[in-house]
Amino acid sequence: MAKVRYYYNTATCKYEPIRATKTGMFWNFMGFTAISFVLAIGIIYFYRTNFTPIKESVLRAENEQLKLDWTILNEELQTAYSHIEELEFKDDHIYRVILDTEPIPSTIRAAGTGGHDRYESLSNGKLSDPRRIISAYREVDDLKKKLYIQSKSYDEISTILEEKERIWSSRPAIQPINNKELKRIAGGFNPKRFHPILKKIHPHEGIDFSADIGTPIYATGDGVVTKAYRSTTYGNAIFIDHGYGYQTRYAHLNEFNIRNGEPVKRGQVIGYVGNTGRSQGPHLHYEVLFKYKAIDPINFFQRDLDNEEYEKVIELSKKETTPLDY
Ligand SMILES: [Zn+2]
Repeated sequence: MAKVRYYYNTATCKYEPIRATKTGMFWNFMGFTAISFVLAIGIIYFYRTNFTPIKESVLRAENEQLKLDWTILNEELQTAYSHIEELEFKDDHIYRVILDTEPIPSTIRAAGTGGHDRYESLSNGKLSDPRRIISAYREVDDLKKKLYIQSKSYDEISTILEEKERIWSSRPAIQPINNKELKRIAGGFNPKRFHPILKKIHPHEGIDFSADIGTPIYATGDGVVTKAYRSTTYGNAIFIDHGYGYQTRYAHLNEFNIRNGEPVKRGQVIGYVGNTGRSQGPHLHYEVLFKYKAIDPINFFQRDLDNEEYEKVIELSKKETTPLDY
């Protein structure tokens, strides 16, 4: 039951009940609504100003984490770039220099990767500013291209290295008999030798190593025995083709340790010192030929000599010596 309110009527000197009019009730209702509205606005404003909604604060935290991750990813990308640039530098300025090979042309390294549809799709996507994402995609594509070129370059270097190794192991590079003390060089290479029997200038186209009969003779580089033969001048002789223009001849042998057509490795025993053919005493006559022309073997002993020993060999080669073949 509604509570009845009274007022004191001075005219009748009585307390009389207050009777509510419709107009009064209307204004009361309007006043209450207005105050409620103002209070609601105030509360919302205060809340918005001083508190962040839970969903929004979660999104903000996620956004901050994404920004941090983005920065770290970009730093990682730049680190990868510097690593690949270091590999490119070593490739062009160390490996290829050692192998005497041209560096990869900068135009190939700098070649673009071509257009990508996904860049366009990113531009037309929902991101308000897709430039950073597009730029990152471009950098990743560029990095992938650099890695591909570098990988191909290593394949090429590997092939070149294998070929160089074949050349290095084929080239005559040691003495044909054990002569570390260099005591056995009896006669040097001499294109103007005066032949004691023929009484005329007759070149000595090899080096003579004095040694006891039966001393092992070694192939001076990898190759194939193209001839193991007997001649009146060279006696028992072996001819090895090393490829790349190089051949070697070993003469006056006592016996062979190989057959015609046999492949040989550097350091393999191919025969034994003798005194066959036109020889004045047990020795090995050794020749090196490049493109069928005899050249001084003294320049092909690098592998088994250190610098000091090599200087001694050069000194010996300048002395007038007497060959042991005639
Ligand atoms: Zn000789």
